[in-house]
Amino acid sequence: MDLPFEPYRVKVVERIQRVSREERVRFLQESGYNVFKIPSEAIYIDLLTDSGTSAMSDLQWAAMMSGDEAYACSKSFADFESTIKDIFGYKHVIPTHQGRAAEGLLFAVTLKPGFVVPNNIHFDTTRANVEYQQAIALDCIGEEGLDPTLEAPFKGDMSLDKLAAAFEKYGVDRIPFVMLTITNNSGGGQPVSMANARAVSEFCNEKGVPLIFDACRFAENAWFIQQREEGYADCSIQEISREMFALGAGCTMSAKKDALVNIGGFLCLNDEKWAQEATNLLLLREGFPTYGGLAGRDLAAVAQGLREVLDVDYLTYRIGQVARLGQRLDELGVPYLRPAGGHAIYVDARTALPHIPQSEFPAQVFTAALYLEGAVRGVEIGSLMFEHEDPDTGEKVHPAMELVRLAIPRRVYSHTQLEYVAQVCARVMEIGESLRGLEIVWEPPALRHFTASLRPAGGGKMVQTN
Ligand SMILES: *Cc1c(COP(=O)(O)O)cnc(C)c1O
Repeated sequence: MDLPFEPYRVKVVERIQRVSREERVRFLQESGYNVFKIPSEAIYIDLLTDSGTSAMSDLQWAAMMSGDEAYACSKSFADFESTIKDIFGYKHVIPTHQGRAAEGLLFAVTLKPGFVVPNNIHFDTTRANVEYQQAIALDCIGEEGLDPTLEAPFKGDMSLDKLAAAFEKYGVDRIPFVMLTITNNSGGGQPVSMANARAVSEFCNEKGVPLIFDACRFAENAWFIQQREEGYADCSIQEISREMFALGAGCTMSAKKDALVNIGGFLCLNDEKWAQEATNLLLLREGFPTYGGLAGRDLAAVAQGLREVLDVDYLTYRIGQVARLGQRLDELGVPYLRPAGGHAIYVDARTALPHIPQSEFPAQVFTAALYLEGAVRGVEIGSLMFEHEDPDTGEKVHPAMELVRLAIPRRVYSHTQLEYVAQVCARVMEIGESLRGLEIVWEPPALRHFTASLRPAGGGKMVQTN
C-alpha cells in the first residue's frame, strides 16, 4: 500500500462542516472574492496555510502546562535556547512572536535605502520587510525553478550566475548579506540542495558577506536532501540540518512551520554587533530578550516541536501526504508545479485557465472557484501577491507563474479529506472555461493580497452561464 502511514493516533478532534452553495456564493461576494476575508467557520478544508495550523502533540501540550512564565531568564527560555543552539548552531538566539518579526529586526539593523538582498525567492513578508527599509529584494532563483513542468530534485536552488550578476551590478557595499529560503516557499516549496547551499556559502565567503537562512521548513528541506542528494541517505535529519546551518551565519525562523506550534519565531545570528542591535530593538518592540513577544509556554512548545520535527517517520508521512495529493491530481488531470513540494501543492493556474490573462488574476479566480465548488480554501501566489514595478523602468511586472497554493497543515487532515480536495480541484477544471477573470476594486498600499477586494472583471457573476 502506498498511502503515507501516520506515525500517531488522534486524541482530540475538532468539528467542521460544509456550508451550502448559496452561502458560499454570498461569502465570496461579501469577501470581495478574497478568501482571506471569509470566516473560518464557513471553510470546510482550510489549506490557506501550513503556518500556525499544526496539531500539537501530547508532549507539546504537556510542555505548555509546564511553561515557566518568569519575566526574565525562565527555564522555558533555557530549553528553547539550548534546543535551537543544538540544531542550528548559531551563537545568539533571539525569540520573536513570529517569522516576520525576526525579519523586521534583522532588516532594521542591517539595511539602508538602496541596499540589496539576494534570495532564491523572497517570501512575501520577507520581500515586504526588505522593501519597507527602501531596499531591493532580489530573487535569484535558478532557471529550473522557473519551469513549472520540469521534474527536478532541487528546484529551490539559487542561480550562482544571477547572484554573481547582482554583486557585479550593485557592488558588495550595497549587499550586506545573502539569504537562502529552505524550502523555497514562493517557488513551490521546492528544496535547496546541500551542494547549492555550499556553493552559495563559498561565494559569500569570497565576497566577505554572511549567508542567512530563511529556515522556516528546514526539516522538510533536510528530508529531501536525505532522499534525493547523493551521500546523504544514511545521515539523520539532525545531521543534515547541522551541516546546512554551518554554511551560514544566522537564520530567521517562523516556528509556525517546522517547529509545529501555533505561534512563535526566532532570529539567530553569529555576528555580535548585529545581535546586540537586534536585541535592543527587540526590547523596544517585542519584549525582554528571554521571551521576545511569547509566553513561557510558547517557548516550551517550540522547543518540544523542534525535537519532534526531526523525526524521519513524521517527515516521511508528512511529505508523503503532499506527494499523494499530487498523485491524485495527476490522475484527475489538474496541472500543478512539479514535483510536489514539501508542504504544499501549487496548482498551475495559467495552464488550468489559459483564457484568463495575468492582468485578470487567473490564480485568484481558481482560488475563488475552489471555495465556490467545495468550500476549500487555498491561496493565490501570483499577480495579486507579486505584481510589482520594475525598479529601473517603473513598468508593471507580472510574476512568471500564477499559482494556487494548497498548503497542508501538519498532522491535521486525513487521507479522505485530501481526496475530497483533489476532487474539488478536478471539478474546477471541469467548469474552467466558464470562469471569468477578476479586477481589483480596492487595495491597500502593501501586501495587498491579504485585504484587497475584487469583482468579476466588468461586473456580474464569476461563473458565466449561457
Ligand atoms: C511563513 C514564512 C515567513 C514569515 O513567517 P511568519 O511567522 O508568518 O511571520 C517567512 N519566510 C517564509 C519562507 C515563510 O514561509
